Amino acid sequence: MKNLICSLVGHDFKETKKVTNHVSEFQCIHCKKQMSTNENGDLTPLTSKQKEINSLLHSIHRKKKKKAAQVSTDY
Ligand SMILES: [Zn+2]
Repeated sequence: MKNLICSLVGHDFKETKKVTNHVSEFQCIHCKKQMSTNENGDLTPLTSKQKEINSLLHSIHRKKKKKAAQVSTDY
């Protein structure tokens, strides 16, 4: 389905999920098209494959954060 606003002025992406410090998922507020940044910081369509990568990145990111927190409280 084509959205008139998007075809005229382009998509208006808002961040829907922060995956890591560098990777986020976005959704267009007009047509609901979903995009994601990848590890290189490039915007790519949020495919099921990219979603898989993102959830993996997210769990790695959380583990790293947890580990860092533990290290800092060990003193
Ligand atoms: Zn759009």
